[in-house]
Amino acid sequence: MHEILSRLNERARVLDLGSGPGSFPPGATPARVVRVDAERPAAAPENFVLADAARLPFPSGSFDAIVSNHSLEHIADLAGAVREMLRVLRADGYLYIAVPDASTLADRVYRWLGRGGGHVNAFVSAEDVPRLFGAGNPATTRVLYASFSFLNRKNFRARAPRRLMLLGNGSEGFLRVGTWALRKLDGALGTRWSVYGWAYYFGEFPEGAPGTEAAKNVCIRCGSGHAAAWLEARGAVERRRFGPSRYVCPGCGARNYFTGG
Ligand SMILES: [Zn+2]
Repeated sequence: MHEILSRLNERARVLDLGSGPGSFPPGATPARVVRVDAERPAAAPENFVLADAARLPFPSGSFDAIVSNHSLEHIADLAGAVREMLRVLRADGYLYIAVPDASTLADRVYRWLGRGGGHVNAFVSAEDVPRLFGAGNPATTRVLYASFSFLNRKNFRARAPRRLMLLGNGSEGFLRVGTWALRKLDGALGTRWSVYGWAYYFGEFPEGAPGTEAAKNVCIRCGSGHAAAWLEARGAVERRRFGPSRYVCPGCGARNYFTGG
């Protein structure tokens, strides 16, 4: 989404839809950000508006960009939300959408662990979201990879579900090895065990659309994705004589195995 956020100026307005505490940090864009969710987060971010995505309290064409980061799968009135997003977005605005692929191992485990986990809409093909918006082909469709960070024990503020016991009790050692092994398996066999979903960029990018290259090094704690080349360029990758190379997440400091590009 940073390809969109960074190109906006301070007069632009961004809607962070289904934001929770915020899909991106306040400093990620010079634009004015409005955060919207159907539930008020414990620590409501600045400019938070409590609203139903299918009934947005904003005038038509009032946003230059909308970010919907892993929120469409949670919205009961999906058609209503899509209609409202297209209404409040300017005709020449930017739209970033990320959704899980409901057919993947990651999303199945998520729903099994959380007994549905609040995912009420299932997207199973890369064409589902563009079809839903009827907005033509996105400028970029990018595959997102999983880190299973939703299993990480450290991410449960309340008591973790009992089912987590069956998944290494959500320990970082288990997630580190598991994520790395699935990624290697996919690389060798062309399978999709470690895929999470898709990210879409809609809008005009005169200087070239955002790249389709996936960020395969996804942190097992904070879920941030990093391109292999970017981690290597900043010297974050530690090669080892035995065992997989490692990197420390620049965002949260968690130790991860480096899965390459
Ligand atoms: Zn991290």
